[in-house]
Amino acid sequence: MPSLAGTSAAAPDPEMLTQVSTYPALQRGQFNGDVTYAQLAQDGDFGLGTFSGLDGEMVALDGVFYQISADGTVRVADAAMTTPFADVHFFHSNQQLRISEPLQNLDQLKAFLAKQLPSPNRPYAFRISGTFPTLKYRSVPKQAEPYPALTDAVAKQVVFEAQNIDAVLVGYMLPEYLGGIGRPGFHFHMISADKSRGGHVLDVSASAATVDIDFLESVKLLIPQNATFQGSNFSQPK
Ligand SMILES: [Zn+2]
Repeated sequence: MPSLAGTSAAAPDPEMLTQVSTYPALQRGQFNGDVTYAQLAQDGDFGLGTFSGLDGEMVALDGVFYQISADGTVRVADAAMTTPFADVHFFHSNQQLRISEPLQNLDQLKAFLAKQLPSPNRPYAFRISGTFPTLKYRSVPKQAEPYPALTDAVAKQVVFEAQNIDAVLVGYMLPEYLGGIGRPGFHFHMISADKSRGGHVLDVSASAATVDIDFLESVKLLIPQNATFQGSNFSQPK
């Protein structure tokens, strides 16, 4: 599969998280893409997000950006496609550990991971590989303008469930103080090992999996230049 990762003059900072737009803007239904996937690939080979018009879920793994549509199909994103919201970085594992105890659900996975983190006050990335006894995930259908708020769009999500699925969870934990920019807490997308299934993780159980944790040190925000974002009053509810 072709990689979108291009050649850049300056060496990228491996410990820098790059985010496109803000979560509050996404919540307001600002779904028009501002950044191409060719641009995004300059800032990372790993990550999660969505596509212009909220046209499915995005997972980036090993430099390949995947689009998971609401019908569940997975395809490699075209470099010219754009995103209204994404988190990416270059993944380098700082710590590897095994999950060897049964974790019954996503909350237990979050609690397990939170115990491994030396501080809640930095971003972390997680790459979790294994065979998951149960995995519940979703994608979202493309929205038409005028765009609804995110909660109304997500109400039309399509939910999928898999059992004993070989997959990789791609996730981040953002600290509380990034709340005006990102969504604090854990956020996971997933892609199956055979790249046939994927989406935003709603629930998961695990009994044996490998967790790689990347400790991040800085955040770069790509501020949308479009008129909707620039004209918004973020101190007011939409
Ligand atoms: Zn998501």
